[in-house]
Amino acid sequence: MIKALRGTYDILPPDSYLWAGVEATARSTFLCAGFGEIRTPVFEQTDLFTRSIGEVTDIVEKEMYTFQDRKGRSLTLRPEGTACVVRACIEHKLLSQQGAMQKLFYIGPMFRYERPQAGRQRQFNQIGVEIFGSYSPLADADAIALMVRFFAAVGFDQLTVRLNSLGDDASLDAYRAALRATLAPHRDALCNECQRRYDKNILRVLDCKVPVCREICARDDMPTLAQHLSPAAAAHYADVKTALDTLGIPYEDVPSLVRGLDYYTHTIFEVTDASLGAQDALGGGGRYDGLVQAMGGPPTGAVGFAIGTERLLMALRAKNAPPDLPPPDIALIACDEEACRECFSYGYTLRDAGLRVHFPYDTLSIKAQMRAAGASGVPYVLLRGKDEREAGVFTCKNMKDGTHSQVREETLIEQMRVLLQQS
Ligand code: AMP
Repeated sequence: MIKALRGTYDILPPDSYLWAGVEATARSTFLCAGFGEIRTPVFEQTDLFTRSIGEVTDIVEKEMYTFQDRKGRSLTLRPEGTACVVRACIEHKLLSQQGAMQKLFYIGPMFRYERPQAGRQRQFNQIGVEIFGSYSPLADADAIALMVRFFAAVGFDQLTVRLNSLGDDASLDAYRAALRATLAPHRDALCNECQRRYDKNILRVLDCKVPVCREICARDDMPTLAQHLSPAAAAHYADVKTALDTLGIPYEDVPSLVRGLDYYTHTIFEVTDASLGAQDALGGGGRYDGLVQAMGGPPTGAVGFAIGTERLLMALRAKNAPPDLPPPDIALIACDEEACRECFSYGYTLRDAGLRVHFPYDTLSIKAQMRAAGASGVPYVLLRGKDEREAGVFTCKNMKDGTHSQVREETLIEQMRVLLQQS
């Protein structure tokens, strides 16, 4: 028997109904805020990701699904959405006009070769937002506020927004130099990977999960980013926080917060929920002012975020009972073969009138059909047999109170509409 691959899974009804609801809420939240939906391919040239995410990152070094196609080109299943959206914006010249803003969102699967566990899959889904064309701290605050509004709309009330600033290039250079100086005496004690990171991408040492590295990074004399922010970067960060205060959005300043992708500058943020445990974020994002230009586009201020849909749903399920699939409005029940064909045709008449209708394909026993209708929670069944055919009617059973009535063929739609409105 062939099974779904490790780290992948099927979304079945009624769970798929929950998925559709969350994605519909995302669409309406972001459309209302003036964002347009973008859908990009799930595979791209490998270079797109190595260049944007950074060579010395866990994603690029260990987690990409990279393969050669039949022409020997190196392709990668997208591990995240931002690089793809940036590529599409440059390719379609969406950012070429001076002062042009692009506000986009995406919903779709991402792929990372990670060790599968609760809340960590190899194919997982993200809902993401990208704002291009502004360096203003209000854009950062808008991204964070939108994320919080979306979470509130799907039913979260007590989320934590964790916030930090990486500053601009000058701040990051100063911080890297300070880190290098402070870590130099401990270099030989770091894990092998971090010894390499020390030279190539020292910020990643802060992300390391190996106990010795964590211990070293927790030392009191470790420099913090906040100490190295340039005055302009500090002012930007202060303005983001003021804007969040204006909306009453609570946040936590987390000076040690870093994110696993290299392209971030200035504000970075993460949203966590107590139900997921300390390390697992529901979503995160930040500003990435250098990326568009680095990928061949014009200089463009940009900020965005991505939410993991699986984690969001895990946290939601921990809070609420799963919703039931909505039952149909009407189940048609056929007592003989001819009635089966009639139910098919009348079923479509009712569906075309906008009613949710179930009809049988096979002439099962009436008892079996009634049992299935009862289990589905349908409010009305319409029974058709020889007597009904001769009289030009359906027998309508109200499943709640068990009462029966006759409904004429010619007025079927109108009468059923009235009954459904009353129920
Ligand atoms: P990132 O692109 O790494 O910032 O991830 C953004 C969000 O996507 C995270 O906060 C998670 O909610 C989700 N996420 C990342 N990787 C995975 C994964 N392997 N499985 C499930 N969700 C993930």
